[in-house]
Amino acid sequence: MRVLARVGVGPLCSAARAVIPWFWRGKYFSSGRESAENQVTPMLRHLMYKIKATGPITVAEYMKEVLTNPAKGYYVYRDMLGEKGDFITSPEISQIFGELLGIWFISEWMATGRNAAFQLVELGPGRGTLLGDILRVFSQLGSVLKNCDISIHLVEVSEKLSEIQALTLTEEKVPLELNPGSPAYMKGVTKSGIPISWYRDLQDVPKGYSFYLAHEFFDVLPVHKFQKTPQGWREVFIDIDPQASDKLRFVLAPCVTPAEVFIQSDETRDHVEVCPEAGVIIQELSQRIALTGGAALIADYGHDGTKTDTFRGFCGHKLHDVLIAPGTADLTADVDFSYLRRMAEGKVASLGPIKQQTFLKNMGIDVRLKVLADKSDEPSRQQLLQGYDMLMNPKKMGERFHFFALLPHQRLHGGSHPMNACQSKPSPSPVAGFGELAWR
Ligand code: SAH
Repeated sequence: MRVLARVGVGPLCSAARAVIPWFWRGKYFSSGRESAENQVTPMLRHLMYKIKATGPITVAEYMKEVLTNPAKGYYVYRDMLGEKGDFITSPEISQIFGELLGIWFISEWMATGRNAAFQLVELGPGRGTLLGDILRVFSQLGSVLKNCDISIHLVEVSEKLSEIQALTLTEEKVPLELNPGSPAYMKGVTKSGIPISWYRDLQDVPKGYSFYLAHEFFDVLPVHKFQKTPQGWREVFIDIDPQASDKLRFVLAPCVTPAEVFIQSDETRDHVEVCPEAGVIIQELSQRIALTGGAALIADYGHDGTKTDTFRGFCGHKLHDVLIAPGTADLTADVDFSYLRRMAEGKVASLGPIKQQTFLKNMGIDVRLKVLADKSDEPSRQQLLQGYDMLMNPKKMGERFHFFALLPHQRLHGGSHPMNACQSKPSPSPVAGFGELAWR
């Protein structure tokens, strides 16, 4: 891609982010047998009480409790990202990842008529690293964006991570919002002077022309698991193991359960995972984009309606048995992009999923790598190359991770205004990443 080389986006930031471990969340499947000893964690005790009181729980309820329970949830009070944590993500590996996504948003903003204002909304921003890289690109391309009124909106349930995001992005500790009427729980101003607000739910984010970003967010949303049996679909539940009273085990529901409605009538697999919460979020994003314009860019590991059992745990960069020591490990399941596409159908157009390797190549990762590498000393150059390999290598993240976008129909099919028969439709510019970036 020519743009980055020409405008020279960004100084060298931190050339490489982490000493890259061998494991990241996207690589391995299933219920990991490399587990530590069972530990009776506060979360395990909480789940035992719950199951004793009301009976076995769905995998979705288990995931929701373990990950986001406001008192004990895995995501709520810890920093699990990076070398010292449980897993590492692309923006934590290389600054180039976020820079190219920053270019994507500017390119879409330009292709859709350079609106006077936009909101950038990120779901699950982790440490704020990705957004920090995007905002650095926005600053570097200040001359392009100079008359645009930008605001940042973060959807985050984690108290700990929202504190870290505030420090990364504003360089301050942002106090909790005291006004009970405010939909945002924190408000501040970024280093480059952009207003930034934090919300617990997408519903609370103001409606308006927005670009939405979700990187490794959909994979932590709760899934229901179903097994095909001679009696039909049966949901997988979690119960106390009768052989060991401090252990949990999977069981099959004896009869039909409500979440079965989410399984397609022509489903051919014999085990499926469905994620109704992802459907709700995609419908909300689609409605917003159809109504007020903008786009959503979703990147995650996943499949197009083909995989079966992908529910797994990660702790200290290793696979972790999902039922052992709940609350101490991340839980995740591959995103079913075919389901996301169905949920958007009729309201907005969707693109992808395409492989991360293809998306980043189309966005010009090779040119950006060269610009940075040419300016770096030898150790930093080696780290940049290692980071590139991690993001792009088909055996690493290059083929496991995918990009998927939601766009207003008129973005793909030409102008939004009715034309008379003599006028030809202006041909829309290709969507960067899904085709080669063309800077107009
Ligand atoms: N996007 C970041 C972090 C991915 S980890 C990166 O790529 O580095 C998942 C993120 O989603 C964390 O910030 C976590 O706290 C947040 N999260 C998890 N469940 C959530 C929910 N239900 N609503 C909002 N945020 C959630």
